[in-house]
Amino acid sequence: MATLEIRDLHVTVEADNATKEILKGVDLTVKQGETHAIMGPNGSGKSTLAYSLAGHPKYTITGGTVTLDGEDVLEMSVDERARAGLFLAMQYPVEVPGVSVSNFLRTSATAVRGEAPKLRTWVKEVKEAMERLNMDPAFAERNVNEGFSGGEKKRHEILQLELLRPKVAILDETDSGLDVDALRVVSEGVNRVRETGEVGTLLITHYTRILRYIKPDYVHVFSAGRIVESGGAELADKLEEEGYEAYTKGGPVSG
Ligand code: ADP
Ligand code: MG
Ligand code: MG
Repeated sequence: MATLEIRDLHVTVEADNATKEILKGVDLTVKQGETHAIMGPNGSGKSTLAYSLAGHPKYTITGGTVTLDGEDVLEMSVDERARAGLFLAMQYPVEVPGVSVSNFLRTSATAVRGEAPKLRTWVKEVKEAMERLNMDPAFAERNVNEGFSGGEKKRHEILQLELLRPKVAILDETDSGLDVDALRVVSEGVNRVRETGEVGTLLITHYTRILRYIKPDYVHVFSAGRIVESGGAELADKLEEEGYEAYTKGGPVSG
């Protein structure tokens, strides 16, 4: 069983000519087969955690460790992280001009699997995965994220997730900007992957709405750069009723 272990993670960013500590000691363990939700107010550092795990150069790790099956993730290049089995879907995915969805997926799959998937089975695999996500086949020929609607970006993320089958998937605000139908399709995709029992999922979200479709095994409340409470799915119900106020008293809340 693969395990992602985050220990006492501290991260800073440069903003307005000053160094600002955003993550202030994050501790979290995600095992293959488990679904964790990280919930918290805007500006608490949830996306910073996702970007830091992705190896984004804007975020400087100043303390702590991240390992996947004991291997030091922080020492890995972005490609090596993907090969090791980490999948990161970002809140603001980048456009990749001139690269079609179809080519992008095949290149990613080749990197993750260590060999190019056989063309004929691959085409079928992609087609079936797209059908499950109610995606138009023409979508495969579009450039990655270029002019994608919010819903298309999220479907594209889940398509990658289904095809790449990582050990641990980190999904940042996969629910934001989705109408109810798209939310259902996206949630079903996450649940299908989850049912394989082979993927650990870290679902980062501000809203409890998606947790009606995806029942987490664990819920963590994130506030001011760290996890301040952990519990089961019932914690999400409490947050839905009471909001984050109890966790942010005395601290600044932006956004
Ligand atoms: P969340 O995802 O919980 O809304 P973020 O991680 O996006 O929170 O942001 C946490 C804090 O870090 C905010 O105050 C935000 O302005 C700051 N921050 C995040 N990324 C950057 C960056 N690249 N440059 C400057 N400040 C940043
Ligand atoms: Mg935010
Ligand atoms: Mg965010």
